Amino acid sequence: MRENRWVHYPRYGDTNITRDSFQAAEASLYKQERDRRYARRQRELEGPIYLDLDKEIDTSKSVDAPLGARHRDPLGHLVAGGGTGGVGNPHFLSQLNRAPKFATRGQPGERITLALELKILADVGFVGMPNAGKSTLLRALTGGRAKSEVASYAFTTLNPVVGIVRVAADGTFEGGVREGQVHDETLVEEQAERGRMRRGEYASALTRNQTAERHAAPRVDTDRGGYHFDLAETFRFTIADNPGLISASSENVGLGHSFLRSMERSLALAYIVDLSAPAPWDELLVLRDELEKYQPGMSRKARIVIANKADLLGSGGDAAAVAEAKEKLRRLEEFVGERMLDVVPLSAKFSQNLTRVVGLMRTYVQEARDRLIAQPPKELDVLQPAPLLSDPQ
Ligand code: GDP
Ligand code: MG
Repeated sequence: MRENRWVHYPRYGDTNITRDSFQAAEASLYKQERDRRYARRQRELEGPIYLDLDKEIDTSKSVDAPLGARHRDPLGHLVAGGGTGGVGNPHFLSQLNRAPKFATRGQPGERITLALELKILADVGFVGMPNAGKSTLLRALTGGRAKSEVASYAFTTLNPVVGIVRVAADGTFEGGVREGQVHDETLVEEQAERGRMRRGEYASALTRNQTAERHAAPRVDTDRGGYHFDLAETFRFTIADNPGLISASSENVGLGHSFLRSMERSLALAYIVDLSAPAPWDELLVLRDELEKYQPGMSRKARIVIANKADLLGSGGDAAAVAEAKEKLRRLEEFVGERMLDVVPLSAKFSQNLTRVVGLMRTYVQEARDRLIAQPPKELDVLQPAPLLSDPQ
């Protein structure tokens, strides 16, 4: 115990501990430690600390406020105090001990375990069944910048991935600069990348900064897949690719509701369905129900239905296939229609029709932010469930 607490002047260790002045100092140190332990136990008896960091707690009048802190300064929360510092030998100077030959080391700080719950992940959250193309869409909207695993099996995405969509005044966005860019499965892209590397195509490639210097306008730098977005950005929002939602996710089946929780406070939600599936409207019902079961009213956050994989429909080019595709889209629109949800068919893989989706998402985010400014949330709003989608006849 002494080793951990005291520092002695070289070769004085043994003499020091026999001295009255040292023993008195040691007794008083132990008393301080006991007092601190007692105070900590008292605090622990009060139970765990719950902080809602959404709300600013007024600590300005707290006795713990550091000297000189202006009263308006939010002081934050002290969850774990630092250790007390050691004191040097002058601290032990007294009438009897004119040259104390010992000092203390100080104590380690408090250790605590925190469980933090992330409630706002992104402005727009994607909600869709596994394999609907959520990860592909995230990559398409961020110009391939956000790396989210894409593969044709369920639950490729295990954790939410957040990407930033940067929009210019005229509605173009970063991903849109590369209209027609194909976002294939991760494995396919990695193979292509390795191939380019082996062929030495990167040997003389410019770095991202070099490309930025050379090209004032956005351009596609096809030889290394790099490009530069140089439009004046006027708006940005974040989107989150979430793991697939399946029926009973809200009861913690599949990847469960850990990520539903992080979507709880997104400004808007976007349903993503696979338009090439036989009945995309059925997927919508499952998704809506899961949201509602997790938190009544949550489905009111949904603003849009993104009908992905539109490239797979009517691809033969013959009139019958095209007519069938149109009919399917019409049915989906009818199903969703009149219920305040927008429907946009697109192809994430081939970056088709993305500008419209970005424009719409931008309005949702803008509206929600304006609302937040107009009336900041007081309590966690419990929304009433609304009949957004009718059950199929
Ligand atoms: P997630 O599970 O919703 O994240 O879906 P992924 O993004 O991992 O995509 C699942 C599969 O669908 C992959 O094989 C993608 O290449 C494919 N896919 C995604 N979007 C499109 C699309 O617009 N058109 C086509 N044809 N395939 C797509
Ligand atoms: Mg995914």
